[in-house]
Amino acid sequence: MLGRTIESVEVLHPRPVRRHLPGAEDFASRLTGRVFTDARRRGKYLWLPLDSGDALLGHLGMSGQLLVQPQDAPDERHLRVRFRLAASEAGPPLELRFVDQRMFGGLSFSPAGAEVPAELTHIARDPLDPEFDDTVFVGRVRRSTSGIKRILLNQTMISGVGNIYADEALWLARLHGDRRGDRLRAVQVRDVLDAARTVMTAALGQGGTSFDALYVNVNGQSGYFDRSLEVYGREGEPCSRCGTPIRRVSFMNRSSFFCPTCQPPPRGAGGGPARGAGRG
Ligand SMILES: [Zn+2]
Repeated sequence: MLGRTIESVEVLHPRPVRRHLPGAEDFASRLTGRVFTDARRRGKYLWLPLDSGDALLGHLGMSGQLLVQPQDAPDERHLRVRFRLAASEAGPPLELRFVDQRMFGGLSFSPAGAEVPAELTHIARDPLDPEFDDTVFVGRVRRSTSGIKRILLNQTMISGVGNIYADEALWLARLHGDRRGDRLRAVQVRDVLDAARTVMTAALGQGGTSFDALYVNVNGQSGYFDRSLEVYGREGEPCSRCGTPIRRVSFMNRSSFFCPTCQPPPRGAGGGPARGAGRG
């Protein structure tokens, strides 16, 4: 779809463009005739820079999908916005379709947002972003009294690491999520950052983690990284490193999964031995 001119924009339901305050018609007119030049992401947001220096900003919410379809493909049941894209040397005309059943997500037009939409400047870079500053991150973690898992989920510190990938990265780095940032050595913070990159790169290679048929790529395919998860969703199963049954505990209305042997809880936190968990 990159390099193709947007021939028309059809908003089939107003809710997904509700954040574009001038309304659906204005949304369509600003995008018509423009060309998508790239596809980028920060945290849970994605944006498609335009040749005008503006961008189409999107958030998939709970059930949103962006699909690239041939123009003759039948409409999806929950099709909300259709972009007709002209033919190019890459092939015949296409459509970019925003499909969303529950409509918590949406699309908006971000003026001058090609580089980074203003709406996203409060969100930290993703660890896979080449401009992510490891040293700054390590310093911020080591000044924080929060647990390392809470830090990994804090979008102002680091983005793109959700609950599943945080648990997987902590297992890989052999750190319990309750270990306080200010009690970690720099090398431990670097280890968990490397682990997050390893997990995220592997997950992207497998199309992500789909527990739900709604999580699909632009071709409508689900990821299968859930089969490669080491701890998440594996309560009671043996740790692949040491054989200890994986444990699950409640965490911020969700769950945390960890190996109590490889990832001992910090001293005083209860729930297991404190081996190796002292101030470093
Ligand atoms: Zn283990």
